[in-house]
Amino acid sequence: MGIPESSISYLIKLLEEKSDVLITTHYNPDGDAIGSSLALYHFLLSQGINSKVLIPNELPSFLQWMPASKDAVIYTEEPEKGNELIASADLIFCMDYNGLGRVKLFTDQLRAANATRVLIDHHIQPENEFDLVFSITSVSSTSELLYQIIDEAGLAASITKDMAECFFVGIMTDTGSFSFACNRPETFEIAANLIRTGMDVERVHRMVYDTYSESRMRLLGHCLGSNMKVLPEYSTAYIWLTKNDLEEYNYQQGDTEGVVNYALSIQNVAVAALFTERDDRIRVSLRSKGEFSVNEFARAHFNGGGHRNAAGGDIFKPMNETLQWFESLLSGYRDEIQKSLANYK
Ligand code: 5GP
Ligand code: MN
Repeated sequence: MGIPESSISYLIKLLEEKSDVLITTHYNPDGDAIGSSLALYHFLLSQGINSKVLIPNELPSFLQWMPASKDAVIYTEEPEKGNELIASADLIFCMDYNGLGRVKLFTDQLRAANATRVLIDHHIQPENEFDLVFSITSVSSTSELLYQIIDEAGLAASITKDMAECFFVGIMTDTGSFSFACNRPETFEIAANLIRTGMDVERVHRMVYDTYSESRMRLLGHCLGSNMKVLPEYSTAYIWLTKNDLEEYNYQQGDTEGVVNYALSIQNVAVAALFTERDDRIRVSLRSKGEFSVNEFARAHFNGGGHRNAAGGDIFKPMNETLQWFESLLSGYRDEIQKSLANYK
C-alpha cells in the first residue's frame, strides 16, 4: 500500500534509540487528530515506551471521553510545560498535519527543536520540514495510516480495546461515519479488525455524535434556517456565523464541526463553505463534491489548504466584505464547478 519498509525499520530504530517521545497534533484538533495521537500514545505504552501528548488547544467536548485524553497537555492551559516538553524531546511525532504552521501556537518551538520529527499524515502537499515522512493521501485518515504502519511492522496484535476506540474515532469522523473518503476496502477491513478487539462501535458513535448540547443543536438550526445562502448558478451554498451568533448560542469549541456538510448535502450543490467570525479573522471551512479542488481554492485565496474535497483557511476582511468577495470569486470558477457536478452524478 505504499509504506516503504525502510521507513518502518527507520522508525523502529528511532524508537529504540530515543528516550523522550512527544506526540503533537494540529490546532483545533478533530477526531482524527486526537484519535491518531492517543492511539499512538497507547500503542507506545504497550511497547514499554512512555510518551507525552501535546495538543495546541482544548478538545471539543465530544472527544473528551476518549481513553487517556486527560493525560494530554493542552498548550493554551500550560504553555510553559508545553515549551519544556518540546525542548526536552528527542523524537517528535507530528500527527494529522502537513506543515508545522498548523499547530499555530508552538510552530517556532517545533522548528527550533533538536528532536527528530516524524510526520504521519494524509493531507496533500506536506511541507519539507520533517525528518521521516509517512504521508499517504489515499487513506481515509491519519488513524488508518497509523494502523497500517503498526500492521506492517507486524505489531497489530498489540492493539487493545482502548487503542481500537481511538483508531475508530479517527476513521469514523474523517469519513463522516463511513460516508466519504471510504471507498477503499482496507478501511472497512481495519474497522472490522478494530471491532474484533471487543470495542463497542455503537457506544463510540453515540459518544461522538449523540452528545450535542441543546445550544449546539439550536445553533445548527440557526445556521440552516437563517444564515445559509444557496447560489444555484454556481452550485454553491454557504453559511456564515458572526461573533454575535456564536455568543447567542453559547458557542463551545467544536460546536460548528460538521455544519458545512449540511450545505454540501443539498442536491446540485458541489461547493459548500462555512464562514465563522473570530477575533482577528474569518475562518473558512470548504467542502466539495467530485473533482473540484477546494484545497487549491483555499491555497489560492484563503491562505489555507487541506484535501481535494475538504479544506480550510483564513480571511482578514469583515464578514460582509468576505461574503461578497467569495461570491465574486465564484464567477471565475463557475464552469469548473458545473463540470465537477456533472461528472459526479
Ligand atoms: P475543517 O474545515 O474541518 O476545519 O478542515 C478541513 C480540512 O482542511 C482538514 O483536513 C484540515 O486539516 C484542513 N485545513 C483546515 N484549515 C486549514 C488551514 O488553514 N491550512 C491548511 N493547510 N489546511 C487546513
Ligand atoms: Mn485527518
